[in-house]
Amino acid sequence: MKKKLIIAIDGYSSCGKSTFARAIAKELNYIFIDSGAMYRSVTLYALRRKYVGTGSIDEQGIVQELNDIHIEFVYNPDIAEYETFLNSENVEREIRGIEVSAHVSRISQIPEVRYRMVELQRQIGVYKGIVMDGRDIGTVVFPDADLKIFMTASVDIRAKRRFDELEAKGLRVDFDEIRKNIISRDITDENRDISPLRRAEDAIILDNSRMTVDEQMTWVFRIIDEKINGS
Ligand code: C5P
Repeated sequence: MKKKLIIAIDGYSSCGKSTFARAIAKELNYIFIDSGAMYRSVTLYALRRKYVGTGSIDEQGIVQELNDIHIEFVYNPDIAEYETFLNSENVEREIRGIEVSAHVSRISQIPEVRYRMVELQRQIGVYKGIVMDGRDIGTVVFPDADLKIFMTASVDIRAKRRFDELEAKGLRVDFDEIRKNIISRDITDENRDISPLRRAEDAIILDNSRMTVDEQMTWVFRIIDEKINGS
């Protein structure tokens, strides 16, 4: 039987981590988990319950209800993709919107939220054959992952990609707002106390500023083939 891997893909916001991770998972027939979607779902829940106000967050309220937040990834055969469900509701579109994006980095700083998400992510990873993308996958969630990649790209290119992605989904967006949001999320993610965004020592850096998805796939499959078929 072929060796099954755990592949951890971390990096900055809007680097194309999910697109890349999803494509790898499809090719290998692995499970793909977008860990950012989990933090986004908690944020949407908190917004709806009014635990997030202008400038303030009721952390205790969120923590108390963590056990009521159920997140699943459900396969949609029409688009051949997994979609995020929050308490049985498809929230795939809503969690990508600017309101959730504006608050998610602060929600993901709450220690109890992180512990709970990491626990869920490890449960999903127990069977191997998984590609997970996020900020702390190679450092905290799966420190023993078989392959760790740390992705980066210039801020302008990331903002343009996010802009195109949201527009394609029919969401009304402002380029400067997106650019500002990316910069501020980088800062919050890199400077938080618990599991800040940083490259694991054994992660391979992929700067995809000037690479197409096909080029990235060729690059990564040289490494994956070696991991699966090599010694
Ligand atoms: O990957 P995405 O941009 O959707 O993630 C949204 C936010 O969720 C990030 O800006 C970060 O604050 C948080 N996140 C995290 N740890 C992860 C994945 C996402 O803190 N593993």
